[in-house]
Amino acid sequence: QRVFDSLSDRLGGVFDRLRGRGALSEDDVRAAMREVRIALLEADVALPVVRRFIDRVTEEAVGQSVLKSVTPGQQVVKIVNDALVEMLGSEAADLDLAAAPPVVIMMVGLQGSGKTTSTAKIGKLLKEKRGKKVMMASLDVNRPAAQEQLRVLGEQAGVATLPIVPGQSPVEIATRALHSAKLQAVDVLLLDTAGRLHVDQALMDEMKAVAAISVPKETLLVVDSLTGQDAVNVAQAFAGEVDLTGVVLTRMDGDARGGAALSMRAVTGKPIKFAATGEKLDAIEPFQPERVAGRILG
Ligand code: GDP
Repeated sequence: QRVFDSLSDRLGGVFDRLRGRGALSEDDVRAAMREVRIALLEADVALPVVRRFIDRVTEEAVGQSVLKSVTPGQQVVKIVNDALVEMLGSEAADLDLAAAPPVVIMMVGLQGSGKTTSTAKIGKLLKEKRGKKVMMASLDVNRPAAQEQLRVLGEQAGVATLPIVPGQSPVEIATRALHSAKLQAVDVLLLDTAGRLHVDQALMDEMKAVAAISVPKETLLVVDSLTGQDAVNVAQAFAGEVDLTGVVLTRMDGDARGGAALSMRAVTGKPIKFAATGEKLDAIEPFQPERVAGRILG
């Protein structure tokens, strides 16, 4: 996960200076927090999220017990770390698969976000690491190659896909997928919904119709972590339309500002469940807030 590298460098400098000093005044803390604020904004973290973060950290850090302690710099860094972990979602959130099979996972997001690849990655992970019988179905009838793309990825991942029947609507495909999954005693059915270039109402309505008949246990929003503030807008739009249960952040291997990732939890109110880190079908890992915070703060 390289998306946090430049933020990490910036913050590292601030904290080295804090740690290097014996005593700290309230002004020192406030000055450091101004630098942290700028670093977060430059990393594209959403403004309200930054504001809340800085307020919380400042309030705790200028407390007497911190400033009068033997190692005030270290204490401030610890406070920042804890606030960062909270911003990222505190605990690692696992998929909730506790339901009668086939448990449905619906994947939603914009075209190009990495949705289809992530579907195949999660299918592979559930099969290989959790011993689940998995089936995947593409409901994307707008892009002619989409269903074929999932089929090919399924073959590479060793995960079954629903046979393609041309001419069906997304709801018809979802119905057929559920039926087929039941007949074959599938544990988890992954539904890859259509991606569009922009958030539009037709997409939302189609997604809701699919959700109504398939009753997904998980609805995962796939977001490209390199799209910055746009990612936040997309997340807000989706969160307002469907009951998201989690977020998958893709392109965490990318060399860019990772602020979207940091805002996602606060904006959607939903946990980041996976971080995708490359094009290979194994390049996905459960998102662990503590580890990510540790990496950012070096
Ligand atoms: P979709 O349109 O949302 O279904 O997006 P795709 O799954 O087709 O992915 C679009 C492109 O992004 C493909 O070339 C993928 O290989 C690539 N991709 C997906 N996830 C990642 C990731 O985590 N890191 C990198 N570097 N590339 C990714």
